[in-house]
Amino acid sequence: MAAGEPQADCLFCKILAGDVPATIVHETKDVVAFRDINPQAPTHILVIPRAHYANAGELGAEAPELAGALLAEAAVIATAEDIADSGYRIVFNTGAGAGQTVFHVHAHLLGGRGLSWPPG
Ligand code: AMP
Ligand code: ZN
Repeated sequence: MAAGEPQADCLFCKILAGDVPATIVHETKDVVAFRDINPQAPTHILVIPRAHYANAGELGAEAPELAGALLAEAAVIATAEDIADSGYRIVFNTGAGAGQTVFHVHAHLLGGRGLSWPPG
């Protein structure tokens, strides 16, 4: 399997292919953002690379420029969603023990309410 290639059994690859519906809020040639189906905050958007990498560690190691592009787009979306001034959180759950359920790397962009620390 070549790094970054679409995976037939991946939910987010299916969203990227248009086979599963999603509310897309922003897209570039490398990155797509859509609303989380089960939002945990007034703004809860998932930002994903079009290329399939399983998690943030794999993305950073194998495609660091793409990782940077993803973070840059998250900031653009935060401004567009009007949560940049009030503050927002970017989360990469990595591994099942940390709550990762979809193994196509995604940044959770959360904002629009107070966010406590430490997270649960
Ligand atoms: P994680 O648990 O960190 O892997 O995050 C996966 C996220 O994907 C969860 O917050 C889910 O609510 C979200 N999710 C699952 N299916 C869909 C879908 N069809 N459209 C949008 N978000 C989804
Ligand atoms: Zn995928």
